[in-house]
Amino acid sequence: MQLTVLGCWAPYPRCSGACSGYLLQEDGRSLLIETGNGVISRMLQHIDIQDLDAVIISHLHPDHVMDIYCLRHAIEAANREGRMEKLVPLYLPTGPAEEFNRIKEFTKAFHIHVIDELPEPKEVVIDGFKVKFVPGKHNLPAYSMSIEGSKRLVYSGDTAYNPELVKLANNADLFLCEASGLEKDAAYLKENHLTARQAGELAKTAGVKRFMITHFYPEYVLTELQQQAAEGFGGPVELAREGYTLDI
Ligand SMILES: [Zn+2]
Ligand SMILES: [Zn+2]
Repeated sequence: MQLTVLGCWAPYPRCSGACSGYLLQEDGRSLLIETGNGVISRMLQHIDIQDLDAVIISHLHPDHVMDIYCLRHAIEAANREGRMEKLVPLYLPTGPAEEFNRIKEFTKAFHIHVIDELPEPKEVVIDGFKVKFVPGKHNLPAYSMSIEGSKRLVYSGDTAYNPELVKLANNADLFLCEASGLEKDAAYLKENHLTARQAGELAKTAGVKRFMITHFYPEYVLTELQQQAAEGFGGPVELAREGYTLDI
């Protein structure tokens, strides 16, 4: 099971960078997690559009969703030209309604699945992966997720500290967690995001096997975030790096 980081910045990218996007692949299946701005161009460095099997969007903030608008056109064109003969399953939450209502019209590209409407405990098979969603603590409806193939990835999405995420991340093979700021900015982040240290403490409590931080504000020095996450975790912390593919 391989994860490629397509974008790691929030809420805007560094020069030549992209916002949230991750490509998960196993046995020829390709699942895109998040469609932040700049992500589709980077995805096409790794797969052709017709090889995309499914998309999950954790929440509808622009840094996680903007490229759905160009992905829609890429899928429609591929179907029109006969390079593709399918709609792509798209899992997303419904809020804010204005954003959701625009995307739900893209029925010539996607089979829309609403995460909010999945029966509890929100477990579903997507592209052959066993996926479980838990609500995050964020200023929009947002989800953290466990995605299990031969290994298990847990991805935080955007969230403040959440005991349900600790449970979800328990013993994960890879925990990909947002680390949106340094401790000095904890008051600014506290309702919606994790500091790097909090992400580290959460990973430690969950007993994850491997820990990678992401969702970086461009103003920070990343090694400082890494250092604070490592202090919380008590072990090695990897930084999400764009274009980096790792075997989970
Ligand atoms: Zn974000
Ligand atoms: Zn967000």
